[in-house]
Amino acid sequence: MVISRHITGAIRSRRYIVEAILGTIYIVIPWLSWAGKPLMRLDIPARKFHLLGGIFIPQEGIFLHLFLLSAGLSLFFFTSLIGRVWCGWACPQTVFTDFFDAIGRFILGNKYGKQDASPFGKFLLHTVWIVFSLFAAFHIVAYFNDPQEMLSRIIHFDFKEVMFPYFIAFFSAALYIDMTLVREQFCKYACPYARFQTVMMDADSYNVTYDFKRGEPRRVKQTKIGDCTACNMCLVVCPTGIDIRDGLNVGCIACGKCIDACTVQMGKENKKSLINYDSMNRVEKNQKIKWIRPRTVIYATLLFTVLTTAIVLLSNRVPLYASVIPERSLEPMIIPGQKVRNFYNLNLRNMTYENRELKLEIIESERLKPIIHTGSEDSKIKIPANGSAQLRIFIESENLPKSEKPTQTFQIKMNIEDVNNSSFKINKILPLRLPDDPSIQ
Ligand code: SF4
Ligand code: SF4
Repeated sequence: MVISRHITGAIRSRRYIVEAILGTIYIVIPWLSWAGKPLMRLDIPARKFHLLGGIFIPQEGIFLHLFLLSAGLSLFFFTSLIGRVWCGWACPQTVFTDFFDAIGRFILGNKYGKQDASPFGKFLLHTVWIVFSLFAAFHIVAYFNDPQEMLSRIIHFDFKEVMFPYFIAFFSAALYIDMTLVREQFCKYACPYARFQTVMMDADSYNVTYDFKRGEPRRVKQTKIGDCTACNMCLVVCPTGIDIRDGLNVGCIACGKCIDACTVQMGKENKKSLINYDSMNRVEKNQKIKWIRPRTVIYATLLFTVLTTAIVLLSNRVPLYASVIPERSLEPMIIPGQKVRNFYNLNLRNMTYENRELKLEIIESERLKPIIHTGSEDSKIKIPANGSAQLRIFIESENLPKSEKPTQTFQIKMNIEDVNNSSFKINKILPLRLPDDPSIQ
């Protein structure tokens, strides 16, 4: 595991600001509410995702797919444009590494990462790291559980019939082990995204790049040839322990620490850093960076298409789910008056935080004149906020002579609408079977 040397500089400072903002967002979100409901929570036992005052259910998996697609395409697009910006600036692995290093330097000072640090200092450091891991793990689990309830149970040591302590213990251990044993090994050998990067980037990507034309050959034994003083500062500050002067490397997370290091070193000679955010084509051929290239255009178009689709679907989304399935154990039956009765299982889910009263109505039925029977007055069904209703309903309709129906199954359209809010409605197409009635000619 590499514990890299600390460096100050413009990029380091900017990254601290970004990491502080990301860390704050990560910790604060689980505690926030929207109109008294969680701002963002994945309630796995109830199979509900609360987001910005809305409730999403597994049947709306299209939104999850679109989210994953847009996240993947954003990664493709930004990597082709500005390299591994995600890795260096926003990936939890990098952000937590910096948090752990900051704690290490605060407690051990310049003995951090050294063998000769005092045993008490090391003990204190690992104790604080474990507490920090527990704190971070608590907030991971808080995205799935009510944090106030978890905190209250922890304070009262009440862990009856709850699973969250096991998850907190698991995530704390995972984070602690990762930060004390794994760190850059994960980026270099385990992270699948690191493998993708070479495919997504090209010589025009704006990435951490060493200006080998200026820097090489390096100054060795005081021989002044290139600008690189061979001070190796870029190497010792690198959190993944690579040498950027060897060229683009799968281990480079584009954190920019080597840029700050070389800026200090070259600053002593009033020269510009040899390592910068730049493109290989600019360094090698002095060509301007081409931001608009086939791959950036393709990724941008795909991303735009997916985002537009998601926005259109979200803006037309009605937070009501209905499934109407013919009852298999009860065949359609012929009843007096030359009529037919079909049975259905109705499942309704109200994905809002308001009580709803829904009216069921058939709006397209050819000439069958169907009537819905729900067991309640006017075919109205009450569903509590964030609740559901399962019931068996039946539909009575006219029957037709055999000669007038090429098939026994007809399609009818049911309208399900909130009696107090006409924009809250959905339609369902359902089959209506008309068995042959020998009494109708
Ligand atoms: S080479 Fe530079 S940018 Fe890449 S990981 Fe190392 S320090 Fe960060
Ligand atoms: S920090 Fe700059 S000068 Fe020093 S070794 Fe690296 S590239 Fe050369």
